[in-house]
Amino acid sequence: MNTIARQPALPFTDPARTLDGSPRARVRLDLLETLWFNTGTRCNLTCENCYIESSPDNDRLSFLELADLLPFLDEIDAEYLPVRTLGYTGGEPFLNPAFMDILTLGLERGMDALVLTNAMRPMQQSAQALLGLKERFGERLMIRVSVDHFDPARHREERGRQSWTPMLRGLRWLSDHGFALSVAGRTRWGDSEAELRAGYAGLFEREGIRVDAHDPAGLILFPEMDPAAKVPEITEACWDILGRNPADMMCASSRMVVRRQGAPRPVVLACTLIPYDARFELGSTLAEALGEVSLNHVHCARFCVLGGGSCTG
Ligand code: SF4
Ligand code: SF4
Repeated sequence: MNTIARQPALPFTDPARTLDGSPRARVRLDLLETLWFNTGTRCNLTCENCYIESSPDNDRLSFLELADLLPFLDEIDAEYLPVRTLGYTGGEPFLNPAFMDILTLGLERGMDALVLTNAMRPMQQSAQALLGLKERFGERLMIRVSVDHFDPARHREERGRQSWTPMLRGLRWLSDHGFALSVAGRTRWGDSEAELRAGYAGLFEREGIRVDAHDPAGLILFPEMDPAAKVPEITEACWDILGRNPADMMCASSRMVVRRQGAPRPVVLACTLIPYDARFELGSTLAEALGEVSLNHVHCARFCVLGGGSCTG
């Protein structure tokens, strides 16, 4: 008699139930406040723990073009969607040849801009254009620079040997010219939050960087995302047990637009953190992407619900 071996059930597969049959946690979009655009996965660096695996060669997410944004900006206007901020992430956004036009368009359409950058040469090559935008839009243009650790050796360990000095040059330039500035750090080396904030405060003071390391909005510390790490699935009951609020998850207030390599048009993803999993692709318009998100990925558990992360850098 032939027998067919049953595949063992796996966690994070059924969008409705966890492995033990409990209702899986879901997050409702409360208010679409931030719309992220992934400008493309190419980066001038190849960081060790880049969640999106960016590198000079990774173009799994293509460079966005100006025309890719227009339908979304028009939809925001036509439907009176409450989007206040357009976020730009990559890869390194300033590598995208259309990025300054993209940034300008969003600001001209009345929304604030938040740009995540490593502040290195690609950004520095856009210095004059950035100064022009700052002149026009002031604090509505916000720049967040990744400084993985206040110790240059740690930063270099993650980002490569040549990564510290050029970053610091860019960070200092932004600070000296009065840009609305924040810094994204990592917690991967096990320091306490107090140690990290004190360490960054010392760095900022020594280098004359106008960022308050003790302000959680000035220095954002991101927990590590290890896709191989074992984490429990999140059930509806977990919100109360853990004392977490679904409204605090990034997917309760934002979405991300990407264009996959070779795809005819951009699509909208649940958040910035899960760029390659088709289950988190919600549609090709904002209207199609306004529904609930099932927390059916290890990042949902490890980074958002258990780790307390709220954004990426
Ligand atoms: S700079 Fe940012 S996007 Fe580029 S490889 Fe490093 S973490 Fe990834
Ligand atoms: S990773 Fe976080 S923000 Fe993204 S879908 Fe999961 S819970 Fe939501």
